[in-house]
Amino acid sequence: MTVTAAAATDRPTCSPLPVLGRDVRVPLVTGGEVEYGALDYAASAPALQRVWDDVAAYAPYYGSVHRGAGYLSQLSTDLFEQSRETVAAFLGCRPGDEVLFTRSTTDSLNLLAAALPAGTQVFVFETEHHASLLPWSRAREVQVRYLPAPDGAEQAVAALDAALAAAADGPKLVCVTGASNVTGEIWPIRELAAAAHRNGARIVLDAAQLAPHHPVDVAELDVDWVAFSGHKLYAPFGAGVLAGRADWLDAAEPYLAGGGATRSVIHTGDAVDVEWNSGTARHEAGSPNVIGAYAIASACRALTEAGFEALAAREQELLGRLREGLAAIPGVRVLSLFGPDAPRVGVLSFVVRDWNSSRLAAALSAEYGIGVRDGLFCAHPLVRTLLGGEPDEPAECGVPDDVPGGRPLNAVRVSFGAGTPDEHIDRFVNALATLVRDGAAWDYTTENGRCVPARA
Ligand code: PMP
Repeated sequence: MTVTAAAATDRPTCSPLPVLGRDVRVPLVTGGEVEYGALDYAASAPALQRVWDDVAAYAPYYGSVHRGAGYLSQLSTDLFEQSRETVAAFLGCRPGDEVLFTRSTTDSLNLLAAALPAGTQVFVFETEHHASLLPWSRAREVQVRYLPAPDGAEQAVAALDAALAAAADGPKLVCVTGASNVTGEIWPIRELAAAAHRNGARIVLDAAQLAPHHPVDVAELDVDWVAFSGHKLYAPFGAGVLAGRADWLDAAEPYLAGGGATRSVIHTGDAVDVEWNSGTARHEAGSPNVIGAYAIASACRALTEAGFEALAAREQELLGRLREGLAAIPGVRVLSLFGPDAPRVGVLSFVVRDWNSSRLAAALSAEYGIGVRDGLFCAHPLVRTLLGGEPDEPAECGVPDDVPGGRPLNAVRVSFGAGTPDEHIDRFVNALATLVRDGAAWDYTTENGRCVPARA
């Protein structure tokens, strides 16, 4: 089976956005080289050309932020603070909401976990990414309730409602992912937020996978906080965002102790008497990552100006093309928690009957120049549930590696976004169809825990 550009109907009205690395060529184990097929956006997306250009234009003016009287320090400070405003507008923040620049989604959620009032009960589905599943149990004086994997979106809301209604009085927080990094499925955010609020709880949205694919409006969704990472939003300069309600953040101990977080420090005898800042400075000790923040703001502007809704519509068209292609390949099982009709973003995981997923991903790379991801995707409980429990298959990717009819060890994930050309999806479907039909052309072995082509 071959998928071609002509197979698509209802052509989208927008083109892919220019990204770096679009014309990078990679060697094939079988000889020659091809243009790299970047289909691992969910791990880290390529930088938008626009982001790269904006950062390059600013770079000569780079200076310290919040700590310099010179012209470039003033300029850099203004740029950093303006970046907050751009992000606040991109996220539809409410008056009074704060935008904190962090290192990543993981950092943002750990920051919020450290800021929870004593006695907070946290409610989280076991299906979350580890970044939204794990920070809460490390927080002091916080209890975590893990809710089992729901069968569907409505059932998720009902389960949360019931768990919150049965909870004791006191501060409560719900943490939920916007779009799954495994299935791409979009969670019923507005409904979960309503359930949280009618039970006196707050809610934080892990938008690491949603924000790059779909407009996120904090006020409209009525979530209390949102977290995302620059490197998944085409801005790979080491910054992330936590945005939302100021009160818990202002009442908490600073996340990091150090310069910038303090209003005054007085040393008397054996003690230092510290008056901490409030507002964003309280949790942003140390020299801020102005390039990272500016890059995120640049990406927000680029997506907005390109027409985010149109980009999302184009992505849905590519997703339809991908799913149609996969449906025609024998033995492919697409992983899903909410069923085939659930709304989803351009992230999809699957297994192929009698194929080791690591070997499949290695062959897609080595023989076809296509970069996908294999594994459990930092969401072990979810992927194990979707795969049907503990694996039967041995971990080694080399021969003998497949147990006919056995339970797969892990899955393959393909993910794409605003920079993906149609032909990358077609190339992927055609490569997979050929591998499944003819088998791999090369032998693979496990080295340092990774499945790699065996030496010739
Ligand atoms: N949440 C989700 C849903 C994710 O997919 C990821 C990254 N895979 C994270 C959180 C963590 O993001 P980061 O690694 O940028 O901190």
